[in-house]
This record gives sequence, structure tokens and C-alpha cells, in this order.
Amino acid sequence: MIPVKSSHETNANGSIATGRDCSMGAHAQRWRRELLQAVTDVALLLRLVDVHPSEIETATGDLTELRDFPLRVPRPYIARMRRGDPKDPLLRQVLPTTPETEPAKGYGLDPLDESDAVVDAGLLKKYHGRALIIATGSCAVHCRYCFRRHFAYVDHRQDSSFPSVAALRRDPTIREVILSGGDPLMLTDAHLGRLLAAVGSVDHVERIRIHTRLPVVIPQRVTPALTEILANMRQRVVVVLHFNHPNEIDGDCARSLADLDRFTLLNQSVLLHGVNDDADALFELSERLFDAGVLPYYLHMPDAVAGTAHFDVSERRALALHRQLQARLPGYLVPRLVREVPGGTAKELVVADG
Ligand code: SF4
Repeated sequence: MIPVKSSHETNANGSIATGRDCSMGAHAQRWRRELLQAVTDVALLLRLVDVHPSEIETATGDLTELRDFPLRVPRPYIARMRRGDPKDPLLRQVLPTTPETEPAKGYGLDPLDESDAVVDAGLLKKYHGRALIIATGSCAVHCRYCFRRHFAYVDHRQDSSFPSVAALRRDPTIREVILSGGDPLMLTDAHLGRLLAAVGSVDHVERIRIHTRLPVVIPQRVTPALTEILANMRQRVVVVLHFNHPNEIDGDCARSLADLDRFTLLNQSVLLHGVNDDADALFELSERLFDAGVLPYYLHMPDAVAGTAHFDVSERRALALHRQLQARLPGYLVPRLVREVPGGTAKELVVADG
């Protein structure tokens, strides 16, 4: 098991955007300002969305259990929440609630046994030919369902010598590198550029995949400087977005995704009770993603991570929803329904028995 030393880091090192660098360009200033102005106070969030605390099972009392993973949500994301709706699907993804503090059978700190996949500080190898770099422990938003909410990021910090890349260099079987975290786009463009240059210099690496939720919650993160860095890579770049609900895609998001259109854009959603376990929502999500140039790729069963049991969707219901999507959408817009199995050689397709 991964020991719980620290959960998500907030501006844990100087390479994470802080918004205080006066020399940066206007685009960078904008997204960093949004980061600085992210809401971290539950009462303020509820005021902003016109929801009274009595309407929601909010963890406003003893937050000791949640102090390593407190509320954090950027304002551009809050702007897309429905006012006066305690069940808003975006609000539900970010608002700490009492059920998070309740133990649930079968739920643990490291449900995927990721500690067994650690090759070196910051480098995990789960599947053949691919390796995952923990680029940072920081995120712009704290998603309550996060499967790495208890991850020991302090053990995986990357200094300027990038120990993960040195480990990568020693394994010629790795053809694809996944930048993950945390959210790799939390790094400043300068730091991300150095990391990508180091990864890109490894001869046997042919593809670079970036998993990010930043374009979802702060679309302004997609700056000309960022797209230039990615465009200059020798390797093919794949960007995997993490949209879960159609209401997350507004005009700003669509414009940012258009700026990324020279890269392969995929989406990975998590199926979450009370958020998107609804055929109409999933249908609309696929449609809007495609309109924005993104292919819906995975619909992921939630992982059994402590504090997230209230998001669980039964396999039976997941399969029923998936069948409805198959009946309503062309095949290329139906995401694969998958789960991750600890120690597995690949993600497992969820299929009906018999
Ligand atoms: S952005 Fe990703 S890594 Fe960060 S809290 Fe959300 S789900 Fe977890």
C-alpha cells in the first residue's frame, strides 16, 4: 500500500504556477490568476451558487478527515454550475460532503496497488510499453472522486534532474510516456517545456500522452505558449481530457479545445452516481465532445478509493447505461466501459455475464 504522507500538493514547489511572476505574458497571467482565485472555502462556494448549507450534506463541521484534500475549485468552473441547485452535477464533483468521512467496506487508500508499479521516484509502469510520470502533485481542482487523493506525492517530487526520465532512459521497452499527476498542466510552461524536452530526448519514446483536467476547469490554461511547446515535440502528442458532464463544456472550453486541434484529443470520464449516471447526460457529453473535436474514449467505473463510496454505480446499472448509449450513438461516440484491476495487464472491459 502507498503510505499516506501527503495528498495533493498545493504550489508545493517553485515550478508550479503561482501567478506572482511579473514577467509572464498576458495569457499566462490569466490562468495563473484564476488559480490564485480558486475557491477554497465551502461557505463561499455555496454562496456563489445560491445553495443554503441546510440543502446539502456538506462537510462544514469537522474537516479533520479532509484536511489533506480540501475544497479547491476555480471560478470559471463555478460559473458553469446551476444556481440554486444543490444537486448540480458540477457542484457534486467538488463539494466535500459528510459521506467522504465515513468508512466503507472494500475501499482503501491505494485501491489499484499503484505502489507496486513504482519504478523510481515519479515513474510508474503498469502496462507493457507504457510508463507514467507523476509530473506534479498539484491540481487546479480537487475532484472528490479522485483515485489518487491519498497518493504519497512527496515521494515522487521531480527536481530539475528529472529522476523519472533517467529511469525511463534505462527501459527501451517504453514507447509511450504518460504525463499525469496531479495535473501536468499545473507546471509552468517553462518547467513543462524542460520536462517534455527531457522525455522527448529519449530515443525509444514515440508517443507522449498528457492527462489533464485543467482545460476543463480553467480553459485559459491552453495558451499559445503551451500549444507551441507541444507542437515542437518530435513525438506524436495525445491529450486526454477528463470531462464528466456535458455542462462542463462551455464556449471557453470549446475555444480552448479548438486551439489543441492539431493533437489527438481523447476524453476519459468517470461514471459517478449523482453526476453522470444518466443516459441523457452521457449521450449529450459524447455529442458535445465530438462537436469540440474530442473523441469519447473511456467511461471508467469508479475506483474503490477511501472517501468515494457515495459515487459508486453498480455494474448492472453501468451496463444498462452503456447499452442505451450504444442504441443512440454511432459506435465511434460510445466510450468503452472499463475498470482498472490492480495488477492487471490492461484496463478491463466491463461486459455482461454470459
Ligand atoms: S484533476 Fe485528476 S488528479 Fe487532480 S483531483 Fe481531479 S481527478 Fe484527481
